[in-house]
Amino acid sequence: MRIAQRLADIRERVQEAAERAGRDPKEIEIMAVSKFQPRSRIDEAIASGIRYLGESRVQEVEEKYEEDRRNLPENVELHFVGQLQRNKVAKAVRYVDCIQSVDRDPLILEIVKRCERIDKRMGIYFELLTAEETKGGYLDFDSLMRGVEMALLYEHLEIKGLMTMAPFVEDEKEIRHSFRALAACRELLVRRFPQLEGLKLSMGMSNDFEIAIEEGADIIRIGSRLFEGIQV
Ligand SMILES: *Cc1c(COP(=O)(O)O)cnc(C)c1O
Repeated sequence: MRIAQRLADIRERVQEAAERAGRDPKEIEIMAVSKFQPRSRIDEAIASGIRYLGESRVQEVEEKYEEDRRNLPENVELHFVGQLQRNKVAKAVRYVDCIQSVDRDPLILEIVKRCERIDKRMGIYFELLTAEETKGGYLDFDSLMRGVEMALLYEHLEIKGLMTMAPFVEDEKEIRHSFRALAACRELLVRRFPQLEGLKLSMGMSNDFEIAIEEGADIIRIGSRLFEGIQV
C-alpha cells in the first residue's frame, strides 16, 4: 500500500471518530510524523495531501530540509515534536515553523533569544505530562500556566496549542484520561487568558488517534500507520 492509500484509510477513521463525537472531521488536521523517513517518502506524503510534518531530531531536520523550510511547499508547516536540548535551539529555530515540545521555562527563554536574533516569530505548543510512563512535558497545570504567562510577554512567540502523549498501554481508560487532562488544561488556560481562545490540542498517535479525536484533538500526529513498511 502506498502512502496515499494509507492516508485515505486514516482519513476514513478520522471521519468516523469525528462523527461519533459530533465533530466536523474537516477541523481535524493530520500531521505526518516523518522522523526516520527519507525525503522521497515525505514528498509522497505531501503529494497525498499532508500539510503538517513533524520531526523529532534536529540533526535529521538539518539533513532533510533547508533553512526556513525553503525546499517545502508554502502551504506545508514543519513542526518539531521531540525533546529539544538547549544547545540545539539555535539550529532548530532556523528550520521549523513551530515547536510543539515546549516543556520547561528555560527552553522558552532560549527560543526567544534565538528567534530575536534572526527576527523570526515561532509557533509554540506547550507540552503537558499526562501519564507517568511517558516523558517530557510540564509536570502540572500550574507550572505550565506560569510558562504560558511568561511566553505571552514575547512578541517572537505565538502560542498555538497544547501537546501531550498518552501512555503506551492497552487500557483505553488510561489513554482517555491523558487526553482529557490536556483538554481540561486548555479550558483552564483559556479561562485565565481569554486571548488564547482557539488554542489547538495536539494529541493522538497511530494507536490512539481515534480516542484523541473523541476527546477533542485538533491535530493528530501519525508516524508508523502512515509510513511503516512503505518502499522507498
Ligand atoms: C514518533 C512520534 C509520533 C508518531 O508516533 P506513531 O506511533 O508512529 O504514530 C507522534 N508524536 C511524537 C512526539 C513522536 O515522537
